[in-house]
Amino acid sequence: MLKPNQYYSQLKDSYLFYRIAQKTRAYVESHDGAYLYRLGIGDVSMPLCDEVIKALHEAVDDQAKKQTFHGYMPECGAHFFRTAVAGYYAKRGVVLDEDEVFVSSGASDELGDILDLFDRSNDALVIEPAYPAYVDANEMAGRTVQRLASGEENGFLPVPDDSVTAKLIYICSPNNPTGAVFNKEKLRKWVDFANERGAVILFDAAYEAFVEDEDLPRSIYEIDGAKTCAIEICSLSKTAGFTGTRCGYTVIPKELWREGMNLNAMWVRNRTTKTNGVSYILQKGAAAVFTDEGQRQIRENIAVYKRNAKYLTDALDKLGIWYCGGKNAPYIWMKCPRGMSSWEFFDFLLEKAQIVGTPGEGFGECGEGFFRFSTFGSPEDTKTAAERLVKLLS
Ligand code: PLP
Repeated sequence: MLKPNQYYSQLKDSYLFYRIAQKTRAYVESHDGAYLYRLGIGDVSMPLCDEVIKALHEAVDDQAKKQTFHGYMPECGAHFFRTAVAGYYAKRGVVLDEDEVFVSSGASDELGDILDLFDRSNDALVIEPAYPAYVDANEMAGRTVQRLASGEENGFLPVPDDSVTAKLIYICSPNNPTGAVFNKEKLRKWVDFANERGAVILFDAAYEAFVEDEDLPRSIYEIDGAKTCAIEICSLSKTAGFTGTRCGYTVIPKELWREGMNLNAMWVRNRTTKTNGVSYILQKGAAAVFTDEGQRQIRENIAVYKRNAKYLTDALDKLGIWYCGGKNAPYIWMKCPRGMSSWEFFDFLLEKAQIVGTPGEGFGECGEGFFRFSTFGSPEDTKTAAERLVKLLS
């Protein structure tokens, strides 16, 4: 009899979004189709920008003509895509060779696939509250997950200490769910720690485009020493509305070695075996994000989400409620008022103001007592929800 991967039977059900969906459906059914203000979703609401659409159309037309048709693409990425991404990093002072950039179908795929590079005996460290995929991807691979709790006392941005023995360290900054962003000083502590211990940081930069404070790092490679200890995984999903279009990139510096093995070369070997790359059409559309005009247009869309964030942070400021995030991230992480647990606050908001958010407890035990708002929804709904919040909690 074939033996399936036993680790799947040990996975916890991802009940968070299922439970939210169940509760909201029950509410709508028992309240005659009531309108809900949905601030729970992590999906974008703005369409692709014109520059990307134009590039996608042109690439489709290329595929119709013998002279411009493309068959299989290079597995690690097209020259035009890899240089476009390297050029984007260069603007931040980060110098990358084009073959340190790998195209991907998005960050989720990479966060799981990259684990192929590491022996199962390495524990993984997840800083909680955390994006749930980190834990699940490691548990599916049979790896032990260590958890480092963060909290209000460190602004949800902990630094390493001797309790951390894991050799695979996840850092997500700007963070989902907390919206907190590591400054250079704190991030340097993690980089130094990883280099000293021979660990590798998996830096999830899915929300880098939301950083507006110039002194905050958008890439871990803005920190000296990061090229010998970090892999950066990034995505155009939130940067440019690619959630349903799918394209991202991963950076593995050539200086990254462990036990005589080069991780960049290993990833080339992995990609050339396990993928046939990303389609020509998508890479053309994605490369358009990095042109001057593409950047201008995606910034306009991001500005819409930033305005949403402002509606909510203004409301919380008015109410005197503790929160982090919002300014340099598309998530706002607030403390539940009146000592409510995160599910109590979820029910309270749904019942009294028809607002749907995400209970912090779903991102790890230390998220209990906190609540996440996403700023990716419609401006009208977000503005109204912010007004309702003030009215309800004043
Ligand atoms: N990483 C984080 C922190 C995310 O929040 C998400 C999506 O919400 C992803 C990765 C996955 O992004 P992608 O759409 O590129 O798979």
